[in-house]
Amino acid sequence: MRPKMRLSRYFLPVLKENPAEAQIVSHRYMLRAGMIKQQAAGIYSWLPLGLRVLRRIEAIVNEEQERAGHIPLLMPTLQPADLWRESGRYDDYGQEMLRIKDRQGREMLYGPTNEEMITDIFRSHVNSYKDLPLTLYHIQWKFRDEMRPRFGVMRGREFLMKDGYNFDIDKEAALHAYNRHMVSYLRTYERMGLTAIPMRAASGPIGGDNTHEFLVLASTGESEVFYDAAVVDLKLGQRDVDYDNRAEVAKVCEEFTTLYARTDETHDASVFETVPEERRKVGRGIEVGQIFYFGTKYSESMGATVVNEKGEKIPVEMGSHGIGVSRLLGAIIEASHDDKGIIWPEGVTPFPVGIVNLKQGDAAADSACASLEMALLAKGLEPLYDDRDERAGAKFATMDLIGLPWRITVGPRGLANGVVELTSRRTGVSEEMTPEAAVARLVEIYAGV
Ligand code: ATP
Ligand code: MG
Repeated sequence: MRPKMRLSRYFLPVLKENPAEAQIVSHRYMLRAGMIKQQAAGIYSWLPLGLRVLRRIEAIVNEEQERAGHIPLLMPTLQPADLWRESGRYDDYGQEMLRIKDRQGREMLYGPTNEEMITDIFRSHVNSYKDLPLTLYHIQWKFRDEMRPRFGVMRGREFLMKDGYNFDIDKEAALHAYNRHMVSYLRTYERMGLTAIPMRAASGPIGGDNTHEFLVLASTGESEVFYDAAVVDLKLGQRDVDYDNRAEVAKVCEEFTTLYARTDETHDASVFETVPEERRKVGRGIEVGQIFYFGTKYSESMGATVVNEKGEKIPVEMGSHGIGVSRLLGAIIEASHDDKGIIWPEGVTPFPVGIVNLKQGDAAADSACASLEMALLAKGLEPLYDDRDERAGAKFATMDLIGLPWRITVGPRGLANGVVELTSRRTGVSEEMTPEAAVARLVEIYAGV
């Protein structure tokens, strides 16, 4: 069983005042809820509450990648410059790359992405079509010396990214890998309670023609987006997609990419005008992921070849696929909050439920809270129990700020009638019920997450 989590012994450095440096709501709430602390421009410590959400997001990303048949590994944050000279990107990357020298004077860099390194791993170990298809991914810290780090974890310099790389025998197979990533990403974002719309995008320093960005609509987003309003209603839902079935996967992608949805980089006013006027929307979005097919760009320059069925040596077909794991915390909060604080979707919440004891020190209230805590833990639901000797108002304010989707309130008056109160953070609706019924209700809610 997981350990008990009690606020009196936890580390939750909540701020009462709005931090002056935070310009957008997600940054403000992450600081106020004691989730992160800035250590240098765009570089953060993840405090316990923030780390719990980060780990939840990582877990969802891992589950969905493995479901799609992609294999995790872990590459280092520091890379030798020579690898990047092979692809020509050591010079191309410019000021965004953090360059470091070790004591021997060898040139190193803190990886902004990993195309070169994964290609190196591939060429060292794989040389036959029989070992394909192959998709490897990791979740690792990246560093990009952004010109303007801002908005907290949204545009950091050090940030956590999931990046995956597919290796395929021909273009058709590589495009299937591209599609498979698109579907797995749609499922990933939906599990986090987000609507992230795949939009035609431009490729930038990664290279290649086929690329989509996934955008969460938000007025504070950095990208301008143009879309057909109907695209927002598309949902993958509980569909069981067979990731090995090319036609089936391609059909889902078609469903999600046919309606107009583009960023300013690829926007085409004349095509946009064919969308019925009442559905034509211009807004802003947060980029939470991007997928690329770039063919043999890296395999050719770095000599990553495979022998095909005819015995010919050919450069392997590739693509790369990224999810902004740490940026997602900001994006989720931008999409889900109110004036009291964060409202975590059940899929990513740091704790599934909070317990508020209205009268700490009251024998009946204390023992009811302790039994609730045990009952929830026994069901695998780890509650955060506010057992501090504080006013009820202060306890409610903390729970609202940190955004746990459910709260159980326990007080002597209710207990006299055998009931506690279960409150939804999203709707604010409270219901009285027995403690057993509250546990059963939560078990039911989280069974579907
Ligand atoms: P942006 O256009 O926002 O600078 P990018 O297109 O350069 O991002 P990619 O190379 O596509 O980024 O990286 C994959 C994902 O990593 C992005 O979709 C984004 O979610 C995330 N990401 C990129 N840069 C940052 C950053 N500075 N801070 C936090 N997350 C980032
Ligand atoms: Mg991008």
